[in-house]
Amino acid sequence: MDYLPIFADLKRRPCLVVGGGEVAWRKIRMLHKAGAEVRVVAPELHPEVAAMVHRQEVLHWGDSFAPEQLDGVFLAIAATDKKAVNALVYQSANQRQVLVNVVDDQPRCSFIVPSIIDRSPIIVAISSAGKAPVLARLLREKLEALIPQHLGNMAELAGRFRDRLKAKLPSLTLRRKFWETAFTGRFESLVASGQEQQAMDALEQLSQGLEPRGEVALVGAGPGDASLLTLRALQLMQQADVVLYDYLVSDEVMELVRRDAELVCVGKRAGFHSVSQEQTNQLLLEYAQKGKRVVRLKGGDPFIFGRGAEELSVLAQANIPFQVVPGITAAAGATAYAGIPLTHRDFAQSAVFITGHQKPDGDALDWSTLARGQQTLVIYMGLMKSPYIQQQLIEHGRDSATPIAIIERGTQRQQRVLTGQLSQLSELAAQAESPSLIVVGEVTTLAHQLHWFSGETQSDIPAPQAALSL
Ligand code: SAH
Repeated sequence: MDYLPIFADLKRRPCLVVGGGEVAWRKIRMLHKAGAEVRVVAPELHPEVAAMVHRQEVLHWGDSFAPEQLDGVFLAIAATDKKAVNALVYQSANQRQVLVNVVDDQPRCSFIVPSIIDRSPIIVAISSAGKAPVLARLLREKLEALIPQHLGNMAELAGRFRDRLKAKLPSLTLRRKFWETAFTGRFESLVASGQEQQAMDALEQLSQGLEPRGEVALVGAGPGDASLLTLRALQLMQQADVVLYDYLVSDEVMELVRRDAELVCVGKRAGFHSVSQEQTNQLLLEYAQKGKRVVRLKGGDPFIFGRGAEELSVLAQANIPFQVVPGITAAAGATAYAGIPLTHRDFAQSAVFITGHQKPDGDALDWSTLARGQQTLVIYMGLMKSPYIQQQLIEHGRDSATPIAIIERGTQRQQRVLTGQLSQLSELAAQAESPSLIVVGEVTTLAHQLHWFSGETQSDIPAPQAALSL
């Protein structure tokens, strides 16, 4: 280990920055943020530094560097473009045993400043010991995405409860268990949704040994490509005790569920239901009432043709806490991966989403509105009803030559895109498999120019007249 990472308390400690340019400014800002008493030595000051001096946030200690300026200083940073000055700062600081950093000159550093992920009071510092700063930065970006924003808040609130818990639970083992449950349970989700008082109440209840209340997260799993999951979806999937999922959720996404979680398939497919909606509602309720952290994972977005609201109503009536995590709906995901923009200044000023799968008592759709030009019509679950949809749209005035696309397994490796005209809709639909999305409108022609994602399987549809496959 070339460097020992330590977290220094700089509050009110004198720190010297030699240099007044842009680089120096960044260092000054950092030291000021950490509460240091910053002294700047430079003949000229960057406007931002001058403004800080003016606001009395930092002290302008002199125009040129003299070794005595280091007396009584905790650490020093040299950020001038003059090699000789930087070298003198380094040498004088070393003589006085003052920590020193010459910017971008690693051999002249007795300390280095790491890349930081700031979720105060949680701070993660990364360093490559000056060997590969870009690699350290890439790592930092990865961790930034992975570490939830509310982590700092959670640590802060936990800190407030620490002494109280110590008094209540003298056993260290029990306290550790307590925090493990809190950081992955109700306390965590309340902090994540900004409900601090309720979060503190949850800690209190947990410390009284009250059965942790179960809760349900209705989570959108997106259209298939696991990298389209939201960070929140991933966090919840990795904390869940039970995951109820249906057939639309891709295997790739399921791979990311916590290994120990119980998986319950409540697969639903148009035509045959393996588990009825009522049974699913009941299961959600039962698991939550047992105190489990339940994730209800649904393809796409849970509130778009997903019956998510029906499941939540049952929970709301039973007073079970829940949260909703949106997902990328098929209309957004599959079209993006097929190179079809839903709207376009020239071709479509609106987009309408409908489902081809209606309630048994019939179709409540206003076909004359749906058949209008200058709009994109996106049809979910439309394969089976495609002959009817084709006929209704043409009957109500949409040109039979309107370009269409069918996107099968959008965003997944097996994605296929079939294109043609409205008059060929049912013919094309017969060659596609579920899940497929039907898109009607001029924007679909852009797929020929804008397609960028190549699925594993290329379409092998023999082009009927103008129909093309990508
Ligand atoms: N809640 C989901 C939709 C559920 S309805 C969402 O927001 O996407 C199921 C229908 O969604 C399927 O029949 C199909 O029309 C569409 N669909 C879902 N995932 C798809 C995908 N990866 N590719 C194409 N269509 C998809």
